[in-house]
Amino acid sequence: MQMSEVRVRFAPSPTGNLHVGGARTCLFNWLFARSMGGKLILRIEDTDPARFQEGSVGQIIRSMKWLGLDWDEGPEVGGPCEPYFQSQRTEIYQKYLQQLLDEGKAYYCFCTPEELEAQRAIQRERKQPFRYPRTCRNLSKEEVERRIAAGEPHSIRFKIPTSGHLRVNDIIHGRMDFDLTQFDDFVIAKTNGTPTYNFAVVIDDHLMGMTHVLRAEEHIPNTPKQILLFQALGFEVPEFGHMSMILAPDRSKLSKRHGAQSVEEFQALGYLPEALLNYLTLLGWSPEGNQEIITKEETVKQFDMNKMSHKGAVYDIKKLYWINGQYLNSLPLERIAKDAEPFFVAAGLITEEWLQEEANRNYLSHLVDVVRVRVKTLQEIVDASTYFFRDFAEYDEKGVRKFFTPEGIAQLEICRSRVAAQEAFDEASLETLYNTLAEEAGIALGKVIQPSRLALSGRTVTPGMFDMMVLLGKEKTLARMDQAIAYGKGLERA
Ligand code: GLU
Repeated sequence: MQMSEVRVRFAPSPTGNLHVGGARTCLFNWLFARSMGGKLILRIEDTDPARFQEGSVGQIIRSMKWLGLDWDEGPEVGGPCEPYFQSQRTEIYQKYLQQLLDEGKAYYCFCTPEELEAQRAIQRERKQPFRYPRTCRNLSKEEVERRIAAGEPHSIRFKIPTSGHLRVNDIIHGRMDFDLTQFDDFVIAKTNGTPTYNFAVVIDDHLMGMTHVLRAEEHIPNTPKQILLFQALGFEVPEFGHMSMILAPDRSKLSKRHGAQSVEEFQALGYLPEALLNYLTLLGWSPEGNQEIITKEETVKQFDMNKMSHKGAVYDIKKLYWINGQYLNSLPLERIAKDAEPFFVAAGLITEEWLQEEANRNYLSHLVDVVRVRVKTLQEIVDASTYFFRDFAEYDEKGVRKFFTPEGIAQLEICRSRVAAQEAFDEASLETLYNTLAEEAGIALGKVIQPSRLALSGRTVTPGMFDMMVLLGKEKTLARMDQAIAYGKGLERA
């Protein structure tokens, strides 16, 4: 392992799926590694079985892959620092726990949960924050040995200096100063012997050669504890950078009530990975000239971690939606059509079997081409396409009042007979036909088109009408016109 190269990590705890906050942490580590020609390590922090959620590792990995955030070492790819699951590194941690105990930098604590709770109650009453009163810090060697031999349950605590300050130069926040008297002799190994997060993280960040620790702001209180551990163990301390919180539009903490949170949810709603990545990039960093649409390749070229914002980033789903629309229309048609396929299948408009036919795939691609200009997500492509696959008996109410008037229906009848007589059924010929009809009737083209549009789709807003006719084909076009004429006449009689 070359120590001069940048080595960063994404270290999720598998407690659920990958949410926007985690995805952003992962993205910025990825950007930093890629822009510096360094390495991204994926490490799974699964030391706490109580919080572990079955299937979570798979979900996180799937989401990272979907977003195109690849890692150089970790699950699936291996690497020189294996294993990359903390649950498989217990023996490694034991060795360093022992080192701290032997050097008198950590100690056994025999306080029971009840005793600790009693202490907590006293301090609560005095309106003081809880701080472990260091009851076991200075027990004699003999007493410790005796109590261990007697089988008394014990944890291991880290000895914090009782005075002084710790200064940290955070890459994003600048200088931070921590008063050590405010810190506890925190637990580094629980009663059951498993190391705590703060301990395992330090051992792994050292053994995995991390040069930078770039993570969420909520970890700031852990940073001084970890730095003290690095120092106590004689390890080189990496650089730290803490990314600002992602806030809801009302600047409150982001939560479920603010809508989709996880990468999988966005995927299911029909967002594109490029758009989500682009959006997450803007949550905390600004490209040159405040450009809003920027590919990840371009971001890698421009990326400068020193320009990351320390202010809370406001989560704005409308902006993500807009960005998605931009990508939906600029990415190659084949790609968007392919991505749209499962959404069409899920809506029950087509089947996997139907997709086996090349002609059908071509049809779908043509449809997506015509529809995508007006919508912003893959799901919206499907929602805007149902009438191409399904017949309907209802028409948009407002549209009926406006366009299925006696004149509108009379106009539709003329259109119907001319379309029936039309040989060439392509966009250009149909456009010429409707232009001629408008001239003959001495009315605007739009007026001639509207009743036909409503007849063919049941809607007043659709893609271009001639595109729509070609996609429906002559037979269906005529059948729908017939149905609308009958419907309109029924209204007149009523
Ligand atoms: N496992 C921690 C979490 O999921 C991250 C720890 C770290 O980045 O230091 O929040």
